[in-house]
Amino acid sequence: MAINILIVDDSAVMRSIILKTMRMAGLPLEEIYQAANGQEGLDVLNRHWIDLVIADINMPVMNGEEMIDRMQENSDTKEIPIIVVSTEGSKTRIERLQHKGVRFIHKPFSPEIIRDTVTDITGIGVSDE
Ligand SMILES: [Mg+2]
Repeated sequence: MAINILIVDDSAVMRSIILKTMRMAGLPLEEIYQAANGQEGLDVLNRHWIDLVIADINMPVMNGEEMIDRMQENSDTKEIPIIVVSTEGSKTRIERLQHKGVRFIHKPFSPEIIRDTVTDITGIGVSDE
């Protein structure tokens, strides 16, 4: 099973690092969508089937936490697994996100932590190729 993913980060460089890391980890990816802020992320979610969202927190227009709140208020998107990848240092904020069922990965991250978190949260297998 390959998954459709949405990567939401205001840094295009960070989006491509995350994507490259996921590919190198052998994660089976189907469609890959990208968005530069939470509002763009919600627009993509409205139009496409997404199996996993990888989101930054600090972004202009709409931050990651607000996007997550909107996703969880909407019955179409509330079950989609979310991984936050952020430099966020506030323990309060991290715990608040974890209470919402979101997994948290600190930047900078290792390929292993990305792979293990994605396989754990989605239940997909990793190919050896
Ligand atoms: Mg950012």
